[in-house]
Amino acid sequence: MALLQIAEPGQSQAPHQHKLAVGIDLGTTNSLVATVRSGVADVLSDAEGHRSVPSVVSFSADAQPLVGQRADELTGDTSSVIRSAKRLMGKGGLDLADSWLSDHYKFDTSSGSLPAFVTQAGSKTAVDVSAAILSQLRETAEQSLGGDLVGAVITVPAYFDDAQRQATKDAAALAGLNVLRLINEPTAAAVAYGLDNDEEGIVAIYDLGGGTFDISLLRMQHGIFEVLATAGDTSLGGDDIDNALVGWLLEKAGVSKLDDEQASADVKRYAQTVKEALSAADSVAIDWRFSEGHHVSEQLDKAAFNDIISPLVARTLKPCRQVLRDADIEKSDVRAVVMVGGSTRVPMVRESVSDFFGKPVLTSINPDEVVAVGAAIQADILAGNKPDNDLLLLDVTPLSLGLEIMGGLVEKVIQRNTTIPITRGQEFTTYKDGQTSMAVHVLQGERELVDDCRSLARFELNGFPPKAAGASRIQVLFQVDADGLLTVSALEKESGVVASVDVKPSYGLSDGEIERMLRESMENAGDDMQKRLLQEQRVDASRVLEAIGSALDADGDEHLTHDERDVIDKLIVALRDCQESDSREAIKKAIHDLENGSSAFVERRMNASVRKMMSGQGIDNIDSSAWTRSEKIDDTSV
Ligand code: ADP
Ligand code: MG
Repeated sequence: MALLQIAEPGQSQAPHQHKLAVGIDLGTTNSLVATVRSGVADVLSDAEGHRSVPSVVSFSADAQPLVGQRADELTGDTSSVIRSAKRLMGKGGLDLADSWLSDHYKFDTSSGSLPAFVTQAGSKTAVDVSAAILSQLRETAEQSLGGDLVGAVITVPAYFDDAQRQATKDAAALAGLNVLRLINEPTAAAVAYGLDNDEEGIVAIYDLGGGTFDISLLRMQHGIFEVLATAGDTSLGGDDIDNALVGWLLEKAGVSKLDDEQASADVKRYAQTVKEALSAADSVAIDWRFSEGHHVSEQLDKAAFNDIISPLVARTLKPCRQVLRDADIEKSDVRAVVMVGGSTRVPMVRESVSDFFGKPVLTSINPDEVVAVGAAIQADILAGNKPDNDLLLLDVTPLSLGLEIMGGLVEKVIQRNTTIPITRGQEFTTYKDGQTSMAVHVLQGERELVDDCRSLARFELNGFPPKAAGASRIQVLFQVDADGLLTVSALEKESGVVASVDVKPSYGLSDGEIERMLRESMENAGDDMQKRLLQEQRVDASRVLEAIGSALDADGDEHLTHDERDVIDKLIVALRDCQESDSREAIKKAIHDLENGSSAFVERRMNASVRKMMSGQGIDNIDSSAWTRSEKIDDTSV
């Protein structure tokens, strides 16, 4: 008779306590779902044994959408067969999505701010398409694991902004998935290789997929991952290798162009097969017939193939140099280089990247599965299946976040490259006497002037008690959560009046645009600083004019002789005259003159108000410091 095992109380975890959680790589070309079972992370196969699902959804008028392989293989009218929807995620306008999509699909831009694909089943947004793919992955997982999922970790490109991350979450919600966390694709790949358990250092993640290229530098320090820099090319990937090979075939066959869509789809599929075969073999027999008299029949060896694709591979090295420059590190500082994406199976890609960094590249985990595997490891931890493991994944904000202050200037609250999640507060005050509301304008970017930054959101804080200018205290909090979503709130401290906004900007930013914004800020840094200083001086002038104007209105007649008033009025006119000039010195001097010229008046008002207070009448709203105060009071990090 077998002995029954009895565990010590509190020492065992019954198998049914293991929570079913998955990691999902929602890719532009292919999507995968993986999980950790008995301590091992593995990709899950669908009923037909496929380990990945093409990110393709076909919509038809009278049936459920087809997802994956079956949609991918459809021929004929493919206008409702949607591919690469990830390119449109979180984008408010087509102009900002790349041209690949506009070349291939018709769009409906009428319904509010979200552009949608026109399909036989009506308009479908990128979120709808992604939701269909995620539903399929959820089904695969639930069938294969035999139960409901507690949640999923979904990966997104490191450069995804708030809107793109939110769109991914929206798609997950539509698919009935509980999102444990969104994590960056490169971070997931590093986790899959266990680089987080290694000694500290910098790792590079080179990800060449179907249509996009991303390179990221991560730093592992004190058990925390930080994204140091990202760069890439959103229109460079395996598709371009296929197209280059098609070009070669056409040339060999003496065909100038293919006008039939079906014929071009067929030859492209053939090129893809040849490419994939050449990742494993040294030479492949080509046999392709375009039409009568146009036939290619010859051996294509690796050397000739490398010649065809070498310009494309070379193009990926430019962003590699860029991230090293951005992070200000040398190639020799990179401890490990991880290969991600199906296109890194091409031997020449591996060799070129290895030559570039001067070290062998990591390829032992299947490059098209490594992101899903890392996400599964994170999901297992977040679901609470590994109570001892408290690995923290941290990412950074790609651009600074700030607020508009007087004079059309931007006050940065969270600097670019700050590790998230982060909460940062700053105190602001009112500009005018009796002010009871405040407009909060949230901006993103590195430049000094509002017009040069990107507007994310606006909201108002209304109904706080009126006070003298500069007397109210308004605490503005910027919070970026672990998924990179921003919430801005404003609180007037005395009354407790509060307002806030969750930023889901309607327009997304591509990595190219981020790069452009950074470049422009560097190019204009000197100029911007001069403009800012001038603008600050002008704001100071307005503030002094405002303060003295309201003091004169209130009790100028009481405290000033006609002549004294005349002197002050002249100084006011002098300041008004030069306020908009480009001379900081002139404005500064005019402010100084006005302050000096009215100091006796200020003193009399102060004395009068002290007398009033002594006689029990309460202090008036007179605040001489309002003349020199700046509206930003202090800098408090919380
Ligand atoms: P994404 O991240 O864009 O979803 P993947 O990482 O799945 O893309 O990569 C898809 C690309 O990888 C396709 O262009 C495909 O042709 C290419 N690919 C897949 N297997 C191989 C292979 N063995 N050799 C070369 N390219 C491959
Ligand atoms: Mg990918």
